[in-house]
Amino acid sequence: MISNITTMMGVKSLKDIDVTGKRVLIRVDFNVPVDSHNNISDDRRIRAALPTINYCIDHNACSITLVSHFGRPKGKYDEKYSLKHIIKRLERLLQKRVEFIEDFVSSRDEIATCSLERVFLLENIRFKEGEKQNDPELSKRLASICDIYVNDAFGTSHRKHASTYGVMDYVDTKVAGFLMMREIEAFSKALENPVHPIALVIGGAKISSKITLLKEVLQKIDKLIIGGAMSNTFLEALGYDMQRSLYEKEYIETACDVIEQAKKNGVKIYLPVDLVITDSIETPVDIKVVPAQDVLEGFQAVDIGPATVKLFSEAIGLSNTIIWNGPMGIYEIDRFSKGTYKIANAIADCYAYTIVGGGDTADAVDKTGEADNFSFISTGGGASLELLEGKILPGFANLDRIEEEL
Ligand code: ADP
Ligand code: MG
Repeated sequence: MISNITTMMGVKSLKDIDVTGKRVLIRVDFNVPVDSHNNISDDRRIRAALPTINYCIDHNACSITLVSHFGRPKGKYDEKYSLKHIIKRLERLLQKRVEFIEDFVSSRDEIATCSLERVFLLENIRFKEGEKQNDPELSKRLASICDIYVNDAFGTSHRKHASTYGVMDYVDTKVAGFLMMREIEAFSKALENPVHPIALVIGGAKISSKITLLKEVLQKIDKLIIGGAMSNTFLEALGYDMQRSLYEKEYIETACDVIEQAKKNGVKIYLPVDLVITDSIETPVDIKVVPAQDVLEGFQAVDIGPATVKLFSEAIGLSNTIIWNGPMGIYEIDRFSKGTYKIANAIADCYAYTIVGGGDTADAVDKTGEADNFSFISTGGGASLELLEGKILPGFANLDRIEEEL
């Protein structure tokens, strides 16, 4: 049976078409984190789009129009979410002037006039109400300013919005950008042709958001390593009293099913043997390391303990493919971040194929300074989770396919 990932890899990419003299619309994901002064704190997503943009410039596209969302405005103009805040950085990285288009509908003629090598950046597409509703009118308008549509917004490829999905109904030539291809190839390597043993290291806040993924990958992996609040639900399922720890009561049954299913499939499960617990997250007075079954009354588990770090690191070290999603604790707070950072170090030190999915996990890896020691760090949180769940991402679904021409 052909897998969904193989199906997605069968789409045409930029290198399969000729952009010379054409107006190219590129859906990028410039949804970068910014601080309270609008300083870009991490420009990885902009840098990740450069190969696609530069390719179009180098191959003499007549105009290149970039479209992206930024933050979560409510379908109308909001200064805070204006893409004008990123234009300087984009120009610096591209080493090229970029023209900002506040309203592409009224500036349509300007974009439509072919003039070699102009690069436009449209204002935040989510200022238009129709974007999230996948409004056909907005899709048609976007289609009317281009000859070729390129989807390179992996981070939003799990959404059915006008600029990521609907627009494809109205453009003749639609292909994937290089980032989209790199992402899908990276996950294919981990899920389709992996070198065993494969370990999935999973953590983060909730089982409920990752349960489909767990059930799907149990058929493919050899080891399941669980930390973070995710493991609290599993420990509670084993009969431990997790006290005030974050866990999901209604998913205890599900955790038992996963344990059962893992046994059937011969997947070894690793759970924390010790935990860092605290009496309060915001104003801790008492922080202790205790065995996993001994969480004190009134305390909550906020990180994995040192014995668990050792146990997990050993299991990680003996793997040849490692997929990591979800921090091992509340890594945003220094005192509860050790477990996550040590696991990041352990994975980075491996001679394995190592791939990271999940927005917070990628952020944690960045903070350790180990990003270069991972084989691949996905730029898409939600999208990478859906890939692991085995879904076809809408952003790939309607792109031109290579086999159609065979
Ligand atoms: P990702 O974005 O990588 O998919 P998630 O969003 O699922 O990861 O989870 C990240 C969040 O989980 C972080 O905000 C972190 O603070 C939280 N978290 C991890 N462990 C715990 C814990 N033991 N208790 C409470 N929150 C936790
Ligand atoms: Mg997250």
